[in-house]
Amino acid sequence: MTNKKYDYETDVVIVGAGVIGSAIARQLSRFDLDVMIVERKKEIGGNASRQNQGVVCQTSVFNMMMYTEEHSMDNVLRMLFTRSNALIYPQWLKDLEVDYKKIGAVCLARTQEEMDLMEGARKKAWEAGDYRTWRITKKQAYDLVPMLGPGFIGGYYCPDEGIINVFDLVVAQLQNAIENGVRLLRNTKAESVDIDKETNTVIGLQTSQGYIKTKYVINCGALYADDLAKTTGYCNYRMYPRYGQTPVLDKNLPYAPSVMVRPCPGRIATGVAIDPTISGNVLLGPSADNGEDKEWTATTKEGIDKVVETAQKLIPAISMKDTITQFTGARCCKDPSTWTLEVSKNVKGYCEAVGITQGVSTAPAIACYMQNLLENDGLKLEPKDDFQPRRKRIKKFVDMTDEEREAAIASDPKYGNIICRCETITEAEIIRAIHTEPCATTVDEVKRKLRAGMGRCQGGFCSPKVVEILARELNVPVEEITKNEPGSEIIVGKCRK
Ligand SMILES: Cc1cc2nc3c(=O)[nH]c(=O)nc-3n(C[C@H](O)[C@H](O)[C@H](O)COP(=O)(O)OP(=O)(O)OC[C@H]3O[C@@H](n4cnc5c(N)ncnc54)[C@H](O)[C@@H]3O)c2cc1C
Repeated sequence: MTNKKYDYETDVVIVGAGVIGSAIARQLSRFDLDVMIVERKKEIGGNASRQNQGVVCQTSVFNMMMYTEEHSMDNVLRMLFTRSNALIYPQWLKDLEVDYKKIGAVCLARTQEEMDLMEGARKKAWEAGDYRTWRITKKQAYDLVPMLGPGFIGGYYCPDEGIINVFDLVVAQLQNAIENGVRLLRNTKAESVDIDKETNTVIGLQTSQGYIKTKYVINCGALYADDLAKTTGYCNYRMYPRYGQTPVLDKNLPYAPSVMVRPCPGRIATGVAIDPTISGNVLLGPSADNGEDKEWTATTKEGIDKVVETAQKLIPAISMKDTITQFTGARCCKDPSTWTLEVSKNVKGYCEAVGITQGVSTAPAIACYMQNLLENDGLKLEPKDDFQPRRKRIKKFVDMTDEEREAAIASDPKYGNIICRCETITEAEIIRAIHTEPCATTVDEVKRKLRAGMGRCQGGFCSPKVVEILARELNVPVEEITKNEPGSEIIVGKCRK
């Protein structure tokens, strides 16, 4: 074995700080082990993990609609992990204090053919042990969704489907992992896995910020996982994006449903849905268009119009004028389409959690599964006496009672300075978000940690103030503050000398 110089030494390196990588980091932080997580971006939160519907699927019936021979294994894994996740999530989310709500979902049919398709899916799900979906009548469908358009004959109801604050989930998992000793390196791209040629064993990871000596590398790089896998000499898949365009609607709309509303699912995606969110907004979509450009995040007029028109077939009152923003998320699709959760048979110490198309619904279960795989592979995992399962979350000003608000302002007058008026976010909270690991270093990170800028004005009023606070707290000029990644600086210079 070569005696390479190294910049860091650890037992396990996790590549990618999305919902999957951060869940695995948190799970491994229970044990007496040195763990690092490297993220190629400046911002934490992942790619797909920050641009999705935030739905926690607990029933597999809709996934079963997409069942084909080719996808069968994929569906079995999805089902297994969504079901075991349903058992793990309650305690996981309680410990991390992440907002989550079971609101249920309804899938609607216009024709008997669609009813028959969904009945087939229900049967397949039943054979696989999923009993929490049932048929509903036309009247029940209209009772559940009073603003439903004409022409539906009935559908299927899944009471266990839930919604989650997905931005907070990733932050909370990372925060708790860091509180329990995990080291996070941002702006650090994993470039190649270093393998001892004689024993075919991982000895390190070359990154853009130096060499990490390690025994295990877990590839959670999602869309970019194939690039890293190729450096091991064994990669039999390719990753490609499936874009999902999503218009975001305002809060308090008279036609907003209280359950998730979906059409009869298609073969490759569950179709354009109407999903209430934890914050009270409504998401439409996502669309599902395969592509090649992994960096593409733009929305198109045609794409958004199509999503709105399709959603209007479910609830005709939906109006484009109620949209406050829109985004495109890239699903991390794998060809061949399988979830890979394994310790490599070819290279000892190289592991993958890749191709996961429902990561929000399965991350903790996947994390526990990967932990078991590592242990089975011979990694010594001694539980830590001092593992702290609870993430230290501070109550938000907007959720405080009047008495609590008065006490907060008395202890720190910056609680009295409201920066984001739409979401009632104070200066004190923004300062805390900047200084609490994983620290918010950009305007969008402040937004995802606190919702400052996510309201109706979309940061029109608070963004300049957030830039000033970031510059002051990070002790850098305002020109260095970015919206998100380098190159997205907001202030480019002075207009007047
Ligand atoms: C529009 C849309 C809607 C969705 N809706 C839902 C839903 O409602 N419910 C649900 O369960 N799932 C949903 N999903 C799927 C879900 O978002 C993904 O399954 C999940 O986010 C995948 O998490 P991840 O951590 O694997 O990937 P990511 O979040 O993409 O994280 C991967 C991370 O790895 C980093 N990385 C990559 N390569 C390297 C490298 N070489 N070095 C260092 N870092 C690297 C990336 O920068 C990124 O931060 C949706 C997805 C989309 C796009």
